[in-house]
Amino acid sequence: MTDTNRNYVGGEWTDAETGETIDVHNPADTTTVVNSYQNSSAEDAEEAVAAADEAADSWADTPAPERGSVLREAAGIIEDRKDELTELLVSEEGKTRSEAAPEVQRAIDIFYYYAEKAMDYGGTIKGASGGRRQVSTRKEPQGVAGLITPWNYPIAIPAWKIAPALATGNTVVIKPASVAPGPAAELVRALDEAGIPDGVINFVTGPGSEVGDVFSTHDDIDVVSFTGSSEVGHHVYDAATEDVKRVQAEMGGKNPAVITESADLEQALDIVEAGAFGVTGQACTATSRAIVHTDLYDEFVERITERAEAIDVGPGLEDPGMGPHVNQGELESTLEYVDVAKTEGATHQTGGERVEGDLEDGYFVTPAVFSDVDPDMRLFREEVFGPVLAVTEAEDFDHAVELANDSEFGLSASVVTDDLAQANEFVDRVESGVVKVNEKSTGLELHVPFGGVKRTSTNTYREQGDAAIDFYTQTKTVYLND
Ligand code: NAP
Ligand code: MG
Repeated sequence: MTDTNRNYVGGEWTDAETGETIDVHNPADTTTVVNSYQNSSAEDAEEAVAAADEAADSWADTPAPERGSVLREAAGIIEDRKDELTELLVSEEGKTRSEAAPEVQRAIDIFYYYAEKAMDYGGTIKGASGGRRQVSTRKEPQGVAGLITPWNYPIAIPAWKIAPALATGNTVVIKPASVAPGPAAELVRALDEAGIPDGVINFVTGPGSEVGDVFSTHDDIDVVSFTGSSEVGHHVYDAATEDVKRVQAEMGGKNPAVITESADLEQALDIVEAGAFGVTGQACTATSRAIVHTDLYDEFVERITERAEAIDVGPGLEDPGMGPHVNQGELESTLEYVDVAKTEGATHQTGGERVEGDLEDGYFVTPAVFSDVDPDMRLFREEVFGPVLAVTEAEDFDHAVELANDSEFGLSASVVTDDLAQANEFVDRVESGVVKVNEKSTGLELHVPFGGVKRTSTNTYREQGDAAIDFYTQTKTVYLND
């Protein structure tokens, strides 16, 4: 067992007190166990919190540029291992090489970005209302950050939580998703090799209900950042806010792409195909509803169906058009939604079948398209988290916006149009944390805020960019007189 198959607590790679491990299978070939990780208990999680708490004051007192240097050094180490980490990501999570490599690069870029941001860290100084008084503000770390991450971006999401938390002087405990913990373990290994002081970063794998629960509720945790499903996220939020912790939870989506009558059809097809079927539809920002103007509707349905049928599905390491689902549960959930959509009367155009033959040992499904999807159908309303596109006809632009907003979620919305006024109106009216004009709903810049509205997010703080600095810090206001 190598270091990264262990927990990392107080600067040591350790085994869980349970003595048990959990196997991670290759989603493209489930007969292969890729790695095993610690099946930790609440007790293991509590030890990690204690280590982070003990290290908190001294890390907070470490000059910010020095904290940045550790991140910069770690970024370089990850960069040297980029190919190795890309393969690890593919073999645990399943996405294709072409999807995994930019994700690893993104984690590297995030570490470099916050390494520099650490130097900007400070406050403001202002004149005051009387005498020789001066007022200023300064940012201070929150303390111990509890981070809980999903499997679908198993290196980028841990990176975009760990880096700003550390740069701003917090210590960290992190629990990655059990199905693909390896890439997060590699971030921790790089920080260890970069010389991060003991206890500043702690890593524990194990069930969400045990480890995640401790990381979101323990008295010594000051701030909680969660990304994952709505069901778990709202539970984490309720549990953590009871103790007045600062919490952010970023959750599911049901992202629309509105195709207006002026849209370039080819461009619309490119955008929807990439948004719906990229990363096997397993993105919180995936396009899952195409809302198409009546004039383009029939042709759009025909052509997007052809596009879906042309996607070659296969093992991510062979870099096909689309990889497998991550595990049995996600596979079954997608197949179930396909059945439900048929039963509810949506028109099945193509796909949604388990791939047999050579690929029968992997969690492969063909990309699916349904048309005539009404707003009262589950396929219109619920997050599938698989390669299933629902297409709905809109009478006009107003109807399209109404359909786009007819959702409890609001993460990333696209509009495809050649009409600037309509583009602006869409930006104004759509209920969504991210809006993209003539771009796919997936894919984000790392230095601008990211997060959703409505049930997608607790609407507390955004992630990424300066928003993450705000989340992991608190402001102290100083009145200075002589
Ligand atoms: P999930 O099932 O909610 O799990 C997320 C994390 O929470 C995992 O680490 C999980 O651990 C942990 N967890 C489970 N039960 C817990 C509990 N009771 N207390 C504390 N933690 C607990 O989500 P997922 O299946 O990994 O990820 C897919 C979901 O994430 C989708 O809904 C997707 O939309 C969403 N997502 C959202 C964003 C965004 O920024 N909005 C980005 C990416 C993904 P275990 O793995 O051990 O169960
Ligand atoms: Mg899940």
